[in-house]
Amino acid sequence: MPINIAMDGPVGAGKSTIADCVANALGILHLDTGAMYRAVGVTALKRGIDPCDEEKVTEMCRSLVLDVSYAKDGQHTYADGEDVTGILRTEEASMAASKVATYPGVRAQMVEAQQRMAKNHDMLVDGRDIGTRVLADAPVKIYLTASPEVRARRRYLQLQEKGTSDTYEKVLADLIERDRQDMNRKTDPLRKAEDAVEVDTSELTFDESVQEILRIVKEALGVG
Ligand code: C5P
Repeated sequence: MPINIAMDGPVGAGKSTIADCVANALGILHLDTGAMYRAVGVTALKRGIDPCDEEKVTEMCRSLVLDVSYAKDGQHTYADGEDVTGILRTEEASMAASKVATYPGVRAQMVEAQQRMAKNHDMLVDGRDIGTRVLADAPVKIYLTASPEVRARRRYLQLQEKGTSDTYEKVLADLIERDRQDMNRKTDPLRKAEDAVEVDTSELTFDESVQEILRIVKEALGVG
């Protein structure tokens, strides 16, 4: 049986980077499921399909082959054989991903693909519905969070480094809106699984967050 670790949490909690570090330390793979929803979103845009058109996006998704591979620089995500990794992190991709992630038909395809991957590999899987749906039986579940203000502050600093001019207030308002969408959608909304351990990183440094999660994982799996 492969080791599966589920990690969920709201936008800006640092899931992806923390998950990368934890998975590395454990010597297992890290599946970033957000990248898969982003890949569906950008493929729709590339094919001239409006991400708001549920029927067309769901139809497209039915025959779309999504795949991931792992290189030195981390996860690469492919849509019908094309590596789309480099175009997944734009604001446009985020908006498209949020939209297509609300469609039950799209989610069903993603969940099935994610479960297939996790069945064959030791993996830490991060997303929004991992502990509640994709890996509902995972032996370790982490719910990673931080206050909206702390998450917005971190995101604001990242954006400043990239040279964008959004104000802190705008970043906070966008983040609260994405939380609202993720937590209130009908299919598999973001929520903490009953058996998940909550880690609030508001007062923790990056390294402290990684160490705390490693401690929880090792304790749960009974390894030293
Ligand atoms: O994690 P990331 O921000 O890259 O996710 C992109 C979008 O995909 C988010 O808006 C989120 O709502 C959605 N998502 C999801 N379920 C997952 C992972 C991501 O609905 N398991």
